[in-house]
Amino acid sequence: MRIVLLGPPGAGKGTQAQFLSERLSIPAISTGDIFRANVGGGTDLGRQAQAFMDKGELVPDDITNAMVRDRLGDGSAANGFLLDGYPRNPDQAVELDTMLADFDTHLDVAIEITADVEEVTSRLLSRAEIEGRSDDTEDVIRRRLEVYATETAPVSAYYEGRGVLRQIDGTGDITEVTARLFHAVGV
Ligand code: ADP
Repeated sequence: MRIVLLGPPGAGKGTQAQFLSERLSIPAISTGDIFRANVGGGTDLGRQAQAFMDKGELVPDDITNAMVRDRLGDGSAANGFLLDGYPRNPDQAVELDTMLADFDTHLDVAIEITADVEEVTSRLLSRAEIEGRSDDTEDVIRRRLEVYATETAPVSAYYEGRGVLRQIDGTGDITEVTARLFHAVGV
C-alpha cells in the first residue's frame, strides 16, 4: 500500500507511522526525520534545511521534492510506503502524484490524524522537555501550527476531492489511536 499520513504537528504521526509500517511491512518515510538526520550529519541538505526548520517554516519545495523523489525511487519503497510529513502543501501533493505516475503507480489512501490546537500544543511542549528538539519552543510551535493551518490543511481537501481521504481522531490513548488507524486502513 502507498499511504500518506496527514495531521498537525503533535498529532502523533511519527508514533503511529511506526506501528503501521511494521504491521504492513512497508517503510515509514518521515521528511522531518530525514532533514534532522542531515542537520545532525552536517550535510549540504542539512545546512540548506536548518534555517527554515528552526523558524518553523517549510523547507522550499525544490529541495524537499527532490529529496522525496530520491527516497521513493531507491528501491525499498517499490512495494509500498507510508509518508509522514509529506506532502505539506498542495504543490507538493501535485508533485507526489507526478512522481508516482513516473514510477507507474499511485497513492492508495491519505489518512488524516486530527487533534485540536490546545491538545497538540501541550503535547509538543511536554515533548520539548524530553527530546529537546530545537523547533519545540513556544514561538516556533505557534509558527508550525500556523503554517499547518494555512499551507498543509488544504492538502486534506485535495485528497478528499479525490475520494481517498480518511480521518481519524488522534486524541485518547496511543493504542486507541492505533486501532482507529488500522481500521481506517482496513488491516
Ligand atoms: P512536525 O510535524 O512535528 O512539525 P516534522 O518532523 O514533520 O515535525 O517536520 C519538522 C520540520 O521539517 C518542519 O517544520 C519543516 O521545516 C521541515 N519539513 C518536514 N517535512 C517537510 C515538507 N514536506 N516540506 C517542507 N518542509 C518540511
